[in-house]
Amino acid sequence: MPEPSGALARATRDFIREHVLPVDDEFDGDIEAAGGEQLRIKLQEAARAAGLLTPHGPVEYGGRGLNMAERTPVFEEAGYSLFGPMALNVNAPDEGNIHLLDHVATGAQRERYLKPLVNGSWRSAFAMTEPAPGAGADPAALRTRATKVDGGWIINGRKHFITGADGAGFLIVMARTSGEPGSAGGATMFLAPADRAGVRLVRHIATVDRSMLGGHCELALTDLFVPDEDVLGEPERGFQYAQVRLGPARMTHVMRWTGAARRAHEVAVRYATQRQAFGTRLADLGMAQQLIADNEIDLAATRALLREACAELDEAGRANMATSIAKTFAAEALNRVVDRAAQLCGGLGVSRDLPIAKIARELRPFRIYDGPSEVHRWSIAKRAIRRYGPSEYTTSE
Ligand SMILES: Cc1cc2nc3c(=O)[nH]c(=O)nc-3n(C[C@H](O)[C@H](O)[C@H](O)COP(=O)(O)OP(=O)(O)OC[C@H]3O[C@@H](n4cnc5c(N)ncnc54)[C@H](O)[C@@H]3O)c2cc1C
Repeated sequence: MPEPSGALARATRDFIREHVLPVDDEFDGDIEAAGGEQLRIKLQEAARAAGLLTPHGPVEYGGRGLNMAERTPVFEEAGYSLFGPMALNVNAPDEGNIHLLDHVATGAQRERYLKPLVNGSWRSAFAMTEPAPGAGADPAALRTRATKVDGGWIINGRKHFITGADGAGFLIVMARTSGEPGSAGGATMFLAPADRAGVRLVRHIATVDRSMLGGHCELALTDLFVPDEDVLGEPERGFQYAQVRLGPARMTHVMRWTGAARRAHEVAVRYATQRQAFGTRLADLGMAQQLIADNEIDLAATRALLREACAELDEAGRANMATSIAKTFAAEALNRVVDRAAQLCGGLGVSRDLPIAKIARELRPFRIYDGPSEVHRWSIAKRAIRRYGPSEYTTSE
């Protein structure tokens, strides 16, 4: 494993090991058991004191304005602990929302919403997905509707799997402002304080993962009024702004989960060097070495695809194909890494004595959110077919 480059990544690694890993391991990565919001405040105070809070945030609000390439080693170190991204304020969905607001928000919206998000006094949520038959893998199915009224908009609809909604200061809500569900039409993004009348937390959806603060919530939006000044960007351009957020957000997920998978791998390699079986160390047995080597290959390939996508994002602002490829590969490769790590550790690999089982539990949903693997493959294939399809064949024949 190469040493993290740069002083910031090294400082992040030391901070995570000293302040965050012990509490993550004591509570098996269960954020509510570990103290929930109180733990977030405590760890973020420590990160602020160490000069490590919100390193990707805009400089005017106290961040370091790191670009995607610069974020990569730092976020990987943060992800080494399940609570690390929260401690540094680089966790989903806040990190992606900071990125989006930094690109799209007006001056007044920056002061009201972005500033408290960067300094850690507020959390946020991004509300896109809906129960069937609403928007899921297919955003065009969006059913939550915003209707124009005097001075603002009235929003009605239902959202689910909204990470961090319980306890969030505000929501970014995607709602349809033209067309019908099933047609692309127009969507608009709205900023809404989460305690405003018209927002009701229906329930927490119980999922396999337990490390994300505020859970994954179902929300009912009933006659929610949003004034014109809280429209994020221009009306009808919501789907385009979603792309501004999604490409980078996918890559920062890859960065963080690479850190978690690396931890599982390191634990497993240590186990293999200490455990004796059949007269030798596990680490000297060929099939155990294959598990170790395949993990190294998957981690290296993930980092290479991530680097390429981040370079393109930093240069062009968009990298749809590269981020789809990197996200799909990483979500599957990192799950393979953690699964091999569990296998190598035998019974302890699936126990609470080692951190591997909890990392496996937290990592599994990554193959579903930010675009399921099948949807990314579909879009990668469509691009390839457009590029190499019949017209190219006829001209080259
Ligand atoms: C832990 C977690 C956190 C989340 N956080 C948020 C959040 O903060 N905000 C938010 O808005 N949403 C969030 N989501 C929702 C997430 O974005 C959706 O789950 C995802 O977009 C898939 O939508 P869906 O669940 O409705 O699945 P569906 O749309 O019902 O799709 C189900 C499955 O169908 C298959 N499929 C879909 N399309 C195709 C295709 N074209 N070709 C072949 N197969 C296909 C895929 O295997 C897919 O997994 C979260 C989800 C999870 C699990």
